[in-house]
Amino acid sequence: GVSRRGIRGNFVPPIKSNGGNAGNMTSRIGGTSGDGLDDSTRRCLELLCGPEGELPERLRNLEPRLIEHVSNEIMDQDPNVRWDDIAGLDHAKKCVTEMVIWPLLRPDIFKGCRSPGRGLLLFGPPGTGKTMIGKAIAGEAKATFFYISASSLTSKWIGEGEKLVRALFGVASCRQPAVIFVDEIDSLLSQRKSEGEHDSSRRLKTQFFIEMEGFGSGNEQILLIGATNRPQELDDAARRRLAKRLYIPLPSFEARAWIIHNLLEKDGLFKLSKEEIDTICKWTEGYSGSDMKNLVKDASMGPLREALKQGIEITKLEKEDMRPVTLQDFKHALQEVRPSVSLNELVTYEDWNKQFGSLA
Ligand code: ADP
Repeated sequence: GVSRRGIRGNFVPPIKSNGGNAGNMTSRIGGTSGDGLDDSTRRCLELLCGPEGELPERLRNLEPRLIEHVSNEIMDQDPNVRWDDIAGLDHAKKCVTEMVIWPLLRPDIFKGCRSPGRGLLLFGPPGTGKTMIGKAIAGEAKATFFYISASSLTSKWIGEGEKLVRALFGVASCRQPAVIFVDEIDSLLSQRKSEGEHDSSRRLKTQFFIEMEGFGSGNEQILLIGATNRPQELDDAARRRLAKRLYIPLPSFEARAWIIHNLLEKDGLFKLSKEEIDTICKWTEGYSGSDMKNLVKDASMGPLREALKQGIEITKLEKEDMRPVTLQDFKHALQEVRPSVSLNELVTYEDWNKQFGSLA
């Protein structure tokens, strides 16, 4: 629910700041006075501060359309991923539980010496569950989840990225506990400078750091998670702010077995023996979690294709007409779905982990 309701009474709605001039008309969200807010913006504000709540200080100077964008597109009320959905990664799960979930649940205990870092970096090859972990953290900590891809800030929101970042942290501050997940954070905080770095991207980076400095005073229950598959691009300022850095590696043999089993079982397609699963896991050394998912998807098409080949029409096809997924289907799928991560890349991650990762 809404974590912080304002004191009943008048509030100052943000109005569209033409030329940076924020208005301070006095009105209530629920009122019909001409405050220039359309219905959808009003709904967002109600969600954030309650029907008659006071608009928090932080949101007053922000443009309603940005608050609205954050509430509708970036904020995810129900990310719906549990720890149990994530295969393997026991080390990461354990670290994250202590480092971030407990502090989000019990800020009263985790202060002083125990005060946690506000920034967590998840790095490793693409498709290994970094986003899933972010969502699961939010779920376990009963926190609001915010997802943004840093590259969209630099591409889609040209010239407006800073404002959107302010809106993002502003809304998160009103929805604590909150988890802000920044995907591809390297594109925001990379160390490439001079020619490549435009003024606007430098300003964006600065704004980001300013917001992170503001964690603490009244924002104890916000966690920033950055995810990247190019950790080596982060400079030392970025590394300092993301004090905990967890390597999220490719799934182990057991984790791959678990993914196959879990996905097929869900659809009632599981009929493989232990030996057959082991064989598939041997064949899929080097596959990421998302490669495994694609493999299972492709394999599960086998029974369907075969049934159709026997002349059954797709419109008349019954579930019973299809056999379970077999080892042969996987053998076939392996030719279609190749691993997406190269050995060289893995070496880079492991080196970076040794140098900068949180190994404990
Ligand atoms: P990343 O953020 O690391 O690029 P995601 O978390 O978005 O990867 O994972 C992409 C998809 O791959 C997930 O939706 C899931 O289906 C599958 N996947 C990846 N890693 C795992 C894992 N450890 N356990 C279960 N599924 C996984």
